[in-house]
Amino acid sequence: MTERLYYVDPYCTQFRAHIVEVQRLDDRLGVVLDRSAFYPTSGGQPHDTGTLAGYPVLEVIERAADGAVVHLLPADSVLSDSEVEGVVDWPRRFDHMQQHTGQHILSQAFVQLFQADTVGFHLSQSYSTIDLNRNDLGEEEIARGETLANQIVFEDRPVSWQWVDAEEAHRLPLRKPPAVHEHIRIVQVEGFDWSACGGTHVKHTGAVGIIKVVHVERRGAETRLTFLCGGRALRHYAALHALTSKMARQLTIAVEELPEAVQRLQDEVRRERKAREQLQETLTEHEAAALVAQAPIVGTVRLVAQVLTGRVPQEARQLASRITAHPNSVVLFGLGPSSEGETVARGKGQLLFARAEDVPCDIRLLLQEVCREVGGSGGGSAILAQGGCDATRLSEALDLARALLQRWLAD
Ligand SMILES: [Zn+2]
Repeated sequence: MTERLYYVDPYCTQFRAHIVEVQRLDDRLGVVLDRSAFYPTSGGQPHDTGTLAGYPVLEVIERAADGAVVHLLPADSVLSDSEVEGVVDWPRRFDHMQQHTGQHILSQAFVQLFQADTVGFHLSQSYSTIDLNRNDLGEEEIARGETLANQIVFEDRPVSWQWVDAEEAHRLPLRKPPAVHEHIRIVQVEGFDWSACGGTHVKHTGAVGIIKVVHVERRGAETRLTFLCGGRALRHYAALHALTSKMARQLTIAVEELPEAVQRLQDEVRRERKAREQLQETLTEHEAAALVAQAPIVGTVRLVAQVLTGRVPQEARQLASRITAHPNSVVLFGLGPSSEGETVARGKGQLLFARAEDVPCDIRLLLQEVCREVGGSGGGSAILAQGGCDATRLSEALDLARALLQRWLAD
């Protein structure tokens, strides 16, 4: 079994060791040493990276069969000496130590304040999560947990470790029962938290930097807290600061005034939208009146027949309804492809037929007859119907509809 140097000194980043075993594993070279400072993926903490004999350490795993630490190097690595030097990538390791120690503290804070146990822990490359076995903690409770955790950080308490047997472990106020029954490694945040853990931790809580919960998610009976510690929390703060400062500069206000300014902008947009809608209504009203005034009498009705371009269907519907508010009127609209809003699909044309209440004609039937001729389809009611056909056949469709209407009204 590999002697794990990080158990004794998690700050050791450079070491010499003897090669015990070299094995080809798929497209990598698996190397086992007599001792190693490399942490293998386990307990929710990702593995270390770095170099071994100058070759990059791609992954570090724990062999289930005998607990050996296996360092995976590129397949073409050549290990000619029996003794090699290992160098652990310190920024990555220290980041993991900050997150992992922060997790112990945050988990214990929720135990002490709310008897909420941590039932899951995950440390990823950008954030960490703990799952609490309660789903009734509100914003205020989460904030209290965060505050207590940071208080423990600020007190700069020593973080130490010791090996104990099952009996000794039993006497300690462990957060959860250990997974192993002998030779148990206990990590203690002085006077605050005792956990059976094989991970890497900072020496004093102050080195965690800060613990910030950035997301809370209810998951059935549990609550998942996403949190950032140390360097990650600082980078997050810097990014948020840059973002809010930029927004404030754009609006020429102080950062603190952002919520108020956003509210003002939203109100303004709402007012402008309403005013625009009212203007549009007035415009449509006038347009409808003008179209009706110019419309030729076909049979017994005033017929407005036009291919509209650059209009969204909603506008066309509004215009049609304004026109058919005039007695004895019929609207036959063709809509070409439009590029904005509720668009007509590219190359597709739309047909919109409508009539005033007093016109004795089934508009749906008219639309369906026309669609049959020009290869489209559609439906609606006796007074308003919509359909679609190829955009190139819109004029033809309107001519057909006009002719049919004339014939029907004459009958
Ligand atoms: Zn730990």
